[in-house]
Amino acid sequence: MRRINAMKLVKEMPQFEEKIESDESSLSVAADVQSFLYQEAKIERPYSLNAKIELVETCLGKSRREVEEEFARRNPERDKRETRHAISHDRLLVSFSISKEFNDKLNHLKDLLGHVDPSMTTETLLARLAELGLDKYDPQRKAARAVVRSEKKSGDQKADATAPRTFSSKREDNPASAAEVKRTRYIKVRERHRVESDGRGCTFVSHNGRRCESKRFLQLDHIEPFAKGGESRVDNLRWMCGEHNRARVNSVWVTHARKRDGLERESGGLVVITSSTSARASKSAV
Ligand SMILES: [Zn+2]
Repeated sequence: MRRINAMKLVKEMPQFEEKIESDESSLSVAADVQSFLYQEAKIERPYSLNAKIELVETCLGKSRREVEEEFARRNPERDKRETRHAISHDRLLVSFSISKEFNDKLNHLKDLLGHVDPSMTTETLLARLAELGLDKYDPQRKAARAVVRSEKKSGDQKADATAPRTFSSKREDNPASAAEVKRTRYIKVRERHRVESDGRGCTFVSHNGRRCESKRFLQLDHIEPFAKGGESRVDNLRWMCGEHNRARVNSVWVTHARKRDGLERESGGLVVITSSTSARASKSAV
């Protein structure tokens, strides 16, 4: 790959062939310059031939580190970019620069966790942080914990069946009690977990049949809209990303406005909701 890159450069600027072929380090530098120019062109910063020649002349004879600094001078954004590519079927090589301050924080954390793993790698540390983050932010994990809690609770109650029942425990055990029958847009956390998830994220499918699959800001969406009588029940709910949830709320508003202005009859699948329910809708589901 390095040689192929270097040869591409030689093909465009044959005057450097001899120098580039003369030693390994010149070959490496030429390859680096070629991939730098390729990246620059990709972000629409093409170099003229003269500018390319000037860059090669500047870089040949320098160390790879000095060359890297040369690139950073020409494109200061360069050290903020993030690259990742597969190096085996289950490993990626990720590369990005971090601030000194962030590096200090990572090292501080490694020290604090020294009793768990005295020679913790950055990957291990970041994996632990990812687990903490997912526990905090992933709605499906939160729902799974709520199920465990409620099962534990109802298990305790069954074990304690001889004790007189309080109103709240009765409600917990009997889903058909009055409080549950009242129609509600709110979806109980333990119900959320029961909504089937294939792990592929957002279930939105576009007109051309492509599924979204985004896992950002997943929320539950009423398939048959709540305002049209759709229930907050497992078989009427599906996962949608934040963007598609919002898009749905917006299309609902457009439909509402057009209907109000007599421009359009109710279109299939869209709900008309009022402002008082829209705030709650964005918190739970449409
Ligand atoms: Zn989506």
